[in-house]
Amino acid sequence: PFDVLVVGGGPAGAASAIYAARKGIATGVVAERFGGQVLDTMAIENFVSVPHTEGPKLAAALEQHVKDYDVDVMNLQKAARLIPAGADGLVGVKLENGATLSAKTVILSTGARWRSMNVPGEQEYRNKGVAYCPHCDGPLFKGKRVAVIGGGNSGVEAAIDLAGIVAHVTLIEFDSQLRADAVLQVKLRSLKNVDVLVSAQTTEVHGDGGKVVGLSYKDRKDGAVHRVDLEGIFVQIGLVPNTEWLKGTLALSPRGEIEVDAKGATSLPGVFAAGDCTTSPYKQIIIAMGDGAKAALSAFDHLIRLAPQ
Ligand code: FAD
Repeated sequence: PFDVLVVGGGPAGAASAIYAARKGIATGVVAERFGGQVLDTMAIENFVSVPHTEGPKLAAALEQHVKDYDVDVMNLQKAARLIPAGADGLVGVKLENGATLSAKTVILSTGARWRSMNVPGEQEYRNKGVAYCPHCDGPLFKGKRVAVIGGGNSGVEAAIDLAGIVAHVTLIEFDSQLRADAVLQVKLRSLKNVDVLVSAQTTEVHGDGGKVVGLSYKDRKDGAVHRVDLEGIFVQIGLVPNTEWLKGTLALSPRGEIEVDAKGATSLPGVFAAGDCTTSPYKQIIIAMGDGAKAALSAFDHLIRLAPQ
């Protein structure tokens, strides 16, 4: 069995694997797609001490750093079920291919995915004006016009954040009212460069072949379709943790995030978690890496307290 088995090969999983392997213990990583969300990212400008990099470049560096150590990397393998420790104290991870791996400790780092609008143009112009992370991409739209799709807390927070950077923000909400906390709504409505549209359904992202130039939305009250000219669209309609396969085995928050304490421990003994799949706030590369390091050190702490075999 592994001493530490990491499920997920994004920034959190890579950091966990490196920290575990550096303790000289048997470490494995099973990942559906090594690199994770970083593979889908173009410019990364907030990875502290690296002023500019690109997603595929950072993903390759993550993989190389992990492979510098004696880590068993099982890429293109999807975990299907977590089996809590029985009398032998080993936690099982059943893969979709039918095999079951066992480990004294497991670190879950399966990340998350942004919910998309599923309208024409969205995929085509992803990273070319269609963005999902205001902390990451906000500064790229300095002085430009953007829309934020979604009037929940994350959408309204994004609109307030972006209003301080960009020229103009149009917030578009499908429902007849915003769902964000009242204090955020008051703040939003106090900003002069923000327009709020409710009962509005985004129907299409328009581009010029290279980048976004506008969007269309349908007024759900009268069915009329309107066009807004702009350079950026921030989609804020939900970040979904990749934890469907864990339902019923350990404590998840109402949003499906794995509940972790300050050390990355979950509700199951010997099982830790890190990164975007957890309740740890602010989904960022640097935070996922920090959480991954923490979870690995917690797993090591757990291992040295196990009774000698
Ligand atoms: P992920 O990166 O999501 O990795 C999850 C890993 O788990 C992957 O390897 C995946 O294949 C694997 N996995 C999932 N399910 C299973 C399963 N059942 N079995 C096995 N493996 C599984 N952050 C920044 O800090 N700066 C930026 O500029 C930035 N830009 C972004 C741009 C885009 C377009 C996106 C989508 C995100 C961006 N982010 C950025 C956010 C950042 O990418 C994430 O916060 C970070 O990747 C989270 O790391 P993670 O390891 O927790 O999860």
